[in-house]
Amino acid sequence: MENIDINNPHTFLSCDWLEHGIIFDHSNIIRVCCSQCNEGGGRPILAYNYHGELLDWDKIFAQKKEMRDVQRSGETYSKCKGCILLREDEWDDENYIKRLLLTHWIDCNCRCIYCPAVRDDKLKRENKHYDILPVLKDMCDKKVLDKHAYISIAGGESTIYPEFEDMLHLLLDYGCDNILINSSGIKFSPAIEKGLKNHCLEVVISIDSGTRETYEKIKLVKTYDAVCENLKRYAAAQGDQRLYLCSKFIIVPDYNDNENEIELWLKKSRELGIEHVAIDIDIHWVQKNMNNLQNERRIYDLIVYTKQIADRENLKLRYDERASIMRKVHHVKTAVFGGTMRKMGKNV
Ligand code: SF4
Ligand code: SF4
Repeated sequence: MENIDINNPHTFLSCDWLEHGIIFDHSNIIRVCCSQCNEGGGRPILAYNYHGELLDWDKIFAQKKEMRDVQRSGETYSKCKGCILLREDEWDDENYIKRLLLTHWIDCNCRCIYCPAVRDDKLKRENKHYDILPVLKDMCDKKVLDKHAYISIAGGESTIYPEFEDMLHLLLDYGCDNILINSSGIKFSPAIEKGLKNHCLEVVISIDSGTRETYEKIKLVKTYDAVCENLKRYAAAQGDQRLYLCSKFIIVPDYNDNENEIELWLKKSRELGIEHVAIDIDIHWVQKNMNNLQNERRIYDLIVYTKQIADRENLKLRYDERASIMRKVHHVKTAVFGGTMRKMGKNV
C-alpha cells in the first residue's frame, strides 16, 4: 500500500480478518478466518460447538484483541505465520466486524468432486445446521456489523436454505453493499437478483468447465443447462455495470486442466452476457503440491493462458487465492483476492 507512515504506532503487519473478521464455519466453530495454506495453519478459533446462540460480543472482541495485540507487538500470531494475507498497513484499535463469512451449512444441490462437504463424511455427520438469522439481526441491532463490511456467503449452497431469502433481504435493507455469494447457480434466487440490480452484491458461480460433459464429470449432477440459464438471468439483472456476476473456473488436474476447456468456458461466459471471470486451483491439489509449486509449470501456464484468452474476449479476470499463490511462486505479483470486484478494482 502506498503512503503508509512507518513511524505511526498503528503501522504493523496484520490482516483484515485478524483485525475485524469473523467466520461462522461448517464445523460449528467460530473462527477468525478460513485461510489454511500457510505455515502456521491459519483459521484461529474463537468458539467451539456453536449452534446459533446470540453472542457475547465483548467476549469475542476480547479474544480477538489477544491475537491482534501479538501483531501490534511486532511478533506474528502463531496461526498466522507465513500467511500471504499479512500486510503492513495502518490499523485501528476499534471493535467491529468488517469481514464476515457465513459458511455454517454444508448441504448442497451440487456434488463437486473437490468439495470438502461432499468428500468428508465426518464433516457431514458432525455439521448441524442452525438458523443464522437471529445472530445477524443482533449484529445489525447492536451495530457490530459495519454497513460496508465485506460479507461472504458460502456453504454448502445457501440458496436452498429456508432462511436464505430473509437473511439476504435483512443485510440489503441494513445497507450492506459489499456482499459476495458463492453459489452453485442451480437454484435461481430473487434476493440475489435484487442485490445484483442494486449493485450491492457479487455472485460467483464456479462452473469449472467449458462443456456439459466436463461439468457433469466434476459436478456429478446434470444441471449444466439450468446453471447457464441462471447465469444469463443474473447477467441481465446487473444492467449496465457488469462486474457483479462472476463465472469461475477451478482448475482440477486430470479433469479440466487443458486449454480447450478454458477457451470454451471463456467463450460461453461472453455468450451468456458475463464480463467478469475468476480462475483458481483445486485446494487439495495445492495442499498436496505445496512444496513443489515452482516446478508445476503446466498449471501455471494454464493460468497465463486464461489471461490471454480473457483479454482476447474482453473479459476481466480475477486470480483467486490459490491462483495468486501459484503466480507468487512463479514471481508474478498479484494482489490476493479478499473482497468483491468493485473493492479490488486493481486486481483485474
Ligand atoms: S493472517 Fe492469515 S491466518 Fe492469520 S487471520 Fe489473517 S488470513 Fe487468517
Ligand atoms: S457448489 Fe460448492 S458447496 Fe456445492 S458441492 Fe460444489 S463446492 Fe461444494
